[in-house]
Amino acid sequence: MRGVRAIRMIRHGAPLVEEDIADPKPRAGEVLIEIRAAGICHSDAHYRRDPTRVSAPRILGHEIAGVIAGTQRRVAVDYLFDDGRMIGKEVDGGFAEKIVVPAANAIPIPDNISFEQAAIMMCSTATAYHALRLALLQPGESVGILGFGGLGISALLLARRLGAGAVHVFEEMPEKAELAKKLGATIGGEKLDVALDFIGDTNLVLEAIRNLAPRGRLVLVAINLRDIRFDAYADVLAKERHIIGCSDHTREELLELMEMDLDLSCAITRRVPRQAKAVNGVLDELERGTAHLRTVIVN
Ligand SMILES: [Zn+2]
Repeated sequence: MRGVRAIRMIRHGAPLVEEDIADPKPRAGEVLIEIRAAGICHSDAHYRRDPTRVSAPRILGHEIAGVIAGTQRRVAVDYLFDDGRMIGKEVDGGFAEKIVVPAANAIPIPDNISFEQAAIMMCSTATAYHALRLALLQPGESVGILGFGGLGISALLLARRLGAGAVHVFEEMPEKAELAKKLGATIGGEKLDVALDFIGDTNLVLEAIRNLAPRGRLVLVAINLRDIRFDAYADVLAKERHIIGCSDHTREELLELMEMDLDLSCAITRRVPRQAKAVNGVLDELERGTAHLRTVIVN
């Protein structure tokens, strides 16, 4: 008998595997969601490789949208449980046909937002929004975006919406830099009021700290940045700069994003079927560096 099709990480450092899992059954306070779109995040590539981040076996995938089974209700999934566990990391995620989540984690999707856009909103856009809020971005301030992937393009659109001044993108991949320019950003820049790190490259982050205006704020978002050494006096203290950590988002922010009427269509540059080969290919590419912004698994 066929259960539910899922793409699972069985072992770190190995390709994900397509398997049938038991049909998930919702208990009281939970809902069963038939998944229509699942974004593939750069974090999934880190999770697949690094046993210190996620235990195996695990179904990855934390950008999820679909329909509550037996209803017409379109919902996206807030990947954070109230106890802090994360869907697609500490509990099984969205690289599957169905998922059971607490009813409180099902965020209604307005009619004007597609499943694909709602899915990527749950991580890329929500994290970018949270980062801009943590930075206390003020109207007219300049924003530097390190890395123009799913988060970078979300940050660009949101910075505009929040009234930012000039937006500067730091991106080496020519195709992505070109798209950033087309959307009105300049490539590179100095005297940044706010800088957002979505790459995690030590040298680039150091350069960003030194490129901050006095009282400028750097928000660290990329999860792969570990050791970094800077001159505490010259680089931070003397200019009253701030270095801020950003992890996840709040549920209120997800609800706000749904009402913003953002057009994220340009952030989704590829769609793949829910097949292990296709998903592994995308994760391999994310590890090497890809010209794509966000890839979404669709049925
Ligand atoms: Zn993510």
